[in-house]
Amino acid sequence: MPEERTNERDGLTRREVMARTAWAGLGVTAGLVGAGSIEKLLGETAPRVDESSPRIFGVSVAVLPPVDDRYPVVPTWKTEMRQLAPNVYAYQQEGGTGHINAGISNAGLFVGEDSLVVFDALGYPLQSKAFIAAAKNAGGGKPITNLINSHHHGDHVAGNQFFLPAQISSHPYCRQEVLKAIPNTPPSWPKFEGQADGTEVRKLAPPTVTFEDNLVYNIGGNVVEFRFVGPAHTWGDLVAYLPQHKILFAADLAFFYLVPYCHNAHISKWMESIDKVMKWDVDVIVPGHGPVGGKKDLAETTEYFRFLKSEVRKRYDAKMSAGAAAADIKMGKYDNWMGPERIVMNTVRLYDEFKGTLTPDIDVAGTKQAILEYNSIKAGKKS
Ligand SMILES: [Zn+2]
Repeated sequence: MPEERTNERDGLTRREVMARTAWAGLGVTAGLVGAGSIEKLLGETAPRVDESSPRIFGVSVAVLPPVDDRYPVVPTWKTEMRQLAPNVYAYQQEGGTGHINAGISNAGLFVGEDSLVVFDALGYPLQSKAFIAAAKNAGGGKPITNLINSHHHGDHVAGNQFFLPAQISSHPYCRQEVLKAIPNTPPSWPKFEGQADGTEVRKLAPPTVTFEDNLVYNIGGNVVEFRFVGPAHTWGDLVAYLPQHKILFAADLAFFYLVPYCHNAHISKWMESIDKVMKWDVDVIVPGHGPVGGKKDLAETTEYFRFLKSEVRKRYDAKMSAGAAAADIKMGKYDNWMGPERIVMNTVRLYDEFKGTLTPDIDVAGTKQAILEYNSIKAGKKS
């Protein structure tokens, strides 16, 4: 049977797409939504497993690291508005095995006397609208007057427009990067189940108020401290800390059950930021990606980095290329997390750090080269 090209951008065959989506659980999703939607999913799920590649690098990681049978596969979690304390809510979006995980983020809600404050806007129209409806419901129909963006990535700011005329605040670096992204933002949202119905006009709204360090809201009887913790995941990361309730909205400082996404990251400084936050009095942690958890889960994020960094360092010192290093490393239980292909870009980030060439921007050429090399090594091993 001739191989059918189902994803022209990636040059992936149907079988390759199925292999990847089956591992990531997306094959299960395709089965559930019915045959009519499978073609659509096949055409679009591959880039969703490796969200960065087609958009940023033009190439994708073609072979995922295999599941390590010694460790469990990750659980699933559902979309819900979770009350964590009086007037404090986490909006958690579904994920885990069997779900699309790339680009699916969480948000926060703080209810005041007359208004609502939210932390992050999510990344797609239907997600943002569902969050707004749930926020209004939990917040007694009050208007959302303030939105704080944790950082500039699309899955946290692309929904900003749906919160207007709320005032949008961020770290200056976040505003700068959103402004840079505006000219390249497409005029519409492609129709995709659960994300966009295809009718929304797209208009990226930048933060208009910035702060360098801390911004404190006294709202609904709560102190909500927005604190700058970067550079870490990006050069502009904010978290929201509620000392009274020992709650931390960690945004993308924390990835639970997902491989951290590092294309704009300073991994060593990210580890330092986590170490700093771990000293705060915190019981509950809302990650940017994954289910609500605690310090044990945040310790896993840093443990992932510690392990990756030492494995990458050995290969860097042995003069291996970044792509060959990524293909050679076995991450054990972390290979079972969602987004295992991110090891390639994360390895490149560490190489840039070791070489002293790291910048806040994505290393497009280095990552692309590493992905191509990784793919050719994995293809050679397969045959
Ligand atoms: Zn991010």
